[in-house]
Amino acid sequence: MNNFEYIRPATISDAVTAAARPGAAYLASGTNLLDLMKGGIARPSRLVDITRLPGLDRIERLGDGGLRIGTLVRNADLAHDPDFANHYPAITEALLSGASAQLRNAATVGGNLLQRTRCGYFYDTASACNKRKPGAGCDALHGDNRLHAVLGWSEACIATHPSDFCVPLVALDAVVEIEGRGGRRELALESLHRLPGDTPEQENVLEPGDLIVALRLPAEARAFARHARYLKVRERTSYAFAVVSAAAALRIERGKITEARLALGGVAAKPWRARAAEASLAGAVPAADAFARAAQVALADAKPSGDNLFKIELARRIVVRALTLAAVGTPDRIPALPASPLSSGTGALHVA
Ligand code: SF4
Repeated sequence: MNNFEYIRPATISDAVTAAARPGAAYLASGTNLLDLMKGGIARPSRLVDITRLPGLDRIERLGDGGLRIGTLVRNADLAHDPDFANHYPAITEALLSGASAQLRNAATVGGNLLQRTRCGYFYDTASACNKRKPGAGCDALHGDNRLHAVLGWSEACIATHPSDFCVPLVALDAVVEIEGRGGRRELALESLHRLPGDTPEQENVLEPGDLIVALRLPAEARAFARHARYLKVRERTSYAFAVVSAAAALRIERGKITEARLALGGVAAKPWRARAAEASLAGAVPAADAFARAAQVALADAKPSGDNLFKIELARRIVVRALTLAAVGTPDRIPALPASPLSSGTGALHVA
């Protein structure tokens, strides 16, 4: 491991100043970064430890009906907050389907948003990887790529974003609050992550020193609580990243969908909001034909980046299933296997 400087600032402002220097990186729980450092994939010259910064570990109900979640709130603490689960059940399902219980106890909200891809070539320093070393090439393009992207990818990089949490957040119009050298600003979470284009090493729009201090959910997000699900297909039942996932949230009045939200995970370098599919559902009766049409629209631009043609049909099916289960209704309790399509039979919910 390379030598690095370790700094523990007392204020957010000091943290931003310290992290603005080239080669610096923020450290929270380190569940991703420390692995990257031990593997020689990330080599920060300075770590700015934000874990002691005051006020970043709170969940606050806002006067306008929204919710503000500090960047240092642990994934498990958020998922097990009963009020949060009642109002944002799809996000709770996503959180509980991610990583392992031990990792969820340590990992933070802000870190979850900024975790790096799980492309195996990215983690193997003997492989060519444009994301790790710009201009080096991409060994995944002609390698083991069955789990790689089917939307928004480029010849420079076909990796996917691994977060479950981000998928329902994007569907529900979450916003991030960012403290930077120019003060505080806000950004829709949907705009935080970049598609690879020719610069896959630039994974988000943050500037040097920028610190995500909080995540906000608007009041409107609660209107979907009765019809919201997150489903995730993975290669084993737990402690695995999504092959494909979908967050579906509906508002249904008098037998018709008045508003739909849909986002996919495991398909692109960012959580993928399916706005055209959402529009196709507005005013429709919540039934199989409308859901099948929405799935076709959501994947209309998909194309395989390698041996992953199957992911396109899989994504269509998981979209139909997530919409079907959302229409049936949010279960009273989180399913025994959160986010698993296997936790339900034919649309009737079997809850723990
Ligand atoms: Fe690197 Fe992206 Fe290619 Fe994976 S897909 S090897 S992360 S450039």
